[in-house]
Amino acid sequence: MSQPSVYYFDNNATTRVAPEVLEAMLPFLRDQWGNPSSAYTFGRQVAKHLDDARAKIGALINADPREIIFTSCGTESDNSAIHSALVTHPEKRHVLTTAVEHSANIKFCDFLQKHGHKVTFLPVESDGSLDLHLLETSIRPDTAIVSVMWANNETGVVFPIEEIAAICRSKGVLFHTDAVQAAGKLKIDVKELGVDLLSLSAHKLYAPKGIGLLYVKRRTKYHPYVIGGGQERGRRGGTENTANIVAFGRAAELAMAHLAEENTRVRRLRDKLESAILDKIPGASRNGAKEPRLPNTSNVAFDAVEAEGILLLLDQAGICASSGSACSTGSLDPSHVLLAMGCSAARARSSIRFSLGIYNTEAEVDYLLKHLPGIIAKLRAQTPAEEQERRPVGAPAL
Ligand code: PLP
Repeated sequence: MSQPSVYYFDNNATTRVAPEVLEAMLPFLRDQWGNPSSAYTFGRQVAKHLDDARAKIGALINADPREIIFTSCGTESDNSAIHSALVTHPEKRHVLTTAVEHSANIKFCDFLQKHGHKVTFLPVESDGSLDLHLLETSIRPDTAIVSVMWANNETGVVFPIEEIAAICRSKGVLFHTDAVQAAGKLKIDVKELGVDLLSLSAHKLYAPKGIGLLYVKRRTKYHPYVIGGGQERGRRGGTENTANIVAFGRAAELAMAHLAEENTRVRRLRDKLESAILDKIPGASRNGAKEPRLPNTSNVAFDAVEAEGILLLLDQAGICASSGSACSTGSLDPSHVLLAMGCSAARARSSIRFSLGIYNTEAEVDYLLKHLPGIIAKLRAQTPAEEQERRPVGAPAL
């Protein structure tokens, strides 16, 4: 069955499974399907491959393999980190996080608030950056954990995780970072970063959905979130997702090999795309700081057009991109990230995220650039002038 042509510019949502990764995982679905916890050789052989994968991922983030807990996804890793800090420090009821985290963190913190915990959602500046002085002074004696994402999934804006970790260390408070979008795009060295806990998700790294990890620094108190069998050295119950773990290990090896490419070829394609959009399309402006930013992400607002319409016409041309405003239920609430940066609701609703990956080519960028200006012009032509005036998107948030 031949695949329809797809021009994929949504790599922050998920990535294609690399052929090498698929190849590595298939034997664990087809032949080596034993339970790794079983005592017989057929199971124990599988366990060896899990150890192998753990070592490869350890190498990607410079962690001891024993510091890695496999989870089902980035969401579970984020929830688990915060949950563990609260359970292991019952006298501390406060969580410090930011207003621009992924919903994996924000929604969990909303839930905690409803159940009696205290949460501070730090505001961000108009370029998406954090005020570190404010972060430092917001840490309280009852703060159980500070959780701040490394790279924003919507704008690509990168936070200074090493500095934040140093602040938390000096205050004696646990620090967790959601590095889901950083993996494969930025070098990760947990020792250099000085973080206590770090989340990753394999499907952003050219591996399948349904597998993630939580790094827990040695000697950090940890309490499991998923309680059951003694898997993951008693830190996460549930029979291991063996094929996906092997896939994650192979993807980690490839990520190390592709890091330079993400930062040169992918960055060059992203820059070409972004500067052409900003130059050629009137009323287009970037959301978020130009730097420091992920090399693959560009978030752009288009004056007086709704992102929904743009995405529909892009889709008709076989192009996948996304709007920060579309959540999994398909509702078009304006993006909480752009609103937190001070964008108007109209600007947030006119913004599109393009996120590139290692499989994008220059020809695909040219294809997108051939279609996009016409799409914006067509939508503007369909919007009556009075309505366009009523819907200014406002100033760019830098
Ligand atoms: N954190 C960030 C920054 C993300 O971008 C995502 C997914 O988009 C997640 C967490 C959740 O990861 P998962 O889809 O594996 O649950």
